[in-house]
Amino acid sequence: MRISGPQAERILYDIFHAKRKGRTAPLSHQLTLGWVGAPDNPIDEAMAVLMRAPRSYTREDVAEIHCHGAPYTVHETVRLAVKAGARPAEPGEFTRRAFENGRIDLAQAEAVMALIGAQGAKAAQDALRQMRGGASKIILEARAEAIRLLAGLEAAVDFPEEIDESEAMAGLREGAASLAATLRAACNPRAEKLLREGLDVVIAGRPNAGKSTLLNALLGEERAIVTDLPGTTRDTLTERLELDGLIVQLTDTAGLREDGDAVEEIGVARARAALECADLRLIVVDASAPLEPEDEALIVEPCIVVLNKCDLPPCINRYGGAARIVEVSALTGQGLPELLDTLREAAALPDASQASLTRARHIAAATQAAQALEEAVAAMDTGFPTDVAAIDLKRALDALGSITGETLSEDVIDAIFANFCVGK
Ligand code: GDP
Repeated sequence: MRISGPQAERILYDIFHAKRKGRTAPLSHQLTLGWVGAPDNPIDEAMAVLMRAPRSYTREDVAEIHCHGAPYTVHETVRLAVKAGARPAEPGEFTRRAFENGRIDLAQAEAVMALIGAQGAKAAQDALRQMRGGASKIILEARAEAIRLLAGLEAAVDFPEEIDESEAMAGLREGAASLAATLRAACNPRAEKLLREGLDVVIAGRPNAGKSTLLNALLGEERAIVTDLPGTTRDTLTERLELDGLIVQLTDTAGLREDGDAVEEIGVARARAALECADLRLIVVDASAPLEPEDEALIVEPCIVVLNKCDLPPCINRYGGAARIVEVSALTGQGLPELLDTLREAAALPDASQASLTRARHIAAATQAAQALEEAVAAMDTGFPTDVAAIDLKRALDALGSITGETLSEDVIDAIFANFCVGK
């Protein structure tokens, strides 16, 4: 349990009593063993730590009680703290105070939330990179450059005698164009999608091609996280798989054929809808039976054609038109490692090692900034008054500032923190 603010120390020693007495001023950043509640009738035996400002998460005085996790114990400890003058924190309030007190910027605060919600190692690593200032560094450098450009532009306007305007403008035009390109290159929308939602893979094929067997076999091979996702229906079933730290959502669909009954038709319609939105399709074909036109109609890139049942005498050994073809036996497991390798390749994060922007809000703002810079370049090219380009540069600066939080209104910041969990 965490208490933050000028009263934290007083509240802590109202409700927590160290076993070893004798020290008048408790040390900061040191764990102490003691009792929560009255020493003669305690609620719990716990450790407590006081972190005096500014060396704390929020930069305020922070007290933490590490009590046992029983709901009764936690509830009673909170109740005592509230009785002593504390109030329950709002969602994300500690992180918000850290932001408002200048310990972290908004992009880093958002990364805390991303880390808590991260699914899979890759998403967690990316969130941590941003928490340590990965995204902020890109933005701070871009802002510094935009400010330099704006200053140059204003100097050219204010001191026409001293500065050769056409030379200055050429340099500024170059600078703005290159900054716009840098910002666009830093945006990584594919990584944003993959890290937050994972790769959506839909398994499709005619009835009895072996789709369900394949799903089970793939899950059995690499069972890192396997849960039923809520909202799945009987006809399409989605399971999760973690491949090299990245979440892959595998959806098994109803067999695709045209002459089923009414219920089956609904299943087929859902299967087709799932296929349409998939990032990647696994088209399962029974390689021991003749190829049907229906099989071929399913090949829509990006896809992997899975020639299944290769343990049986083959009827097809070639499947034209697809870029990726893998032979497997879902029943015996033959070929599954190759299929997983092909999946890994398809799910590979673009330039994961390079610093990039991987949050939708940041990508949108950086794109806006790049656009404003490009408009500044166009204004210079057209020979508009210098003021026009200056306005564009200011817009770029505002957009960049919204990422780190300098230029955001209070209600947008409220909305961002409203998504946090309580206690963070
Ligand atoms: P679905 O309708 O496409 O989901 O197909 P199923 O997974 O239910 O499989 C249909 C039938 O094919 C079942 O009897 C499976 O045991 C069989 N089957 C699936 N994969 C293989 C395979 O690789 N080899 C063989 N010999 N049989 C398989």
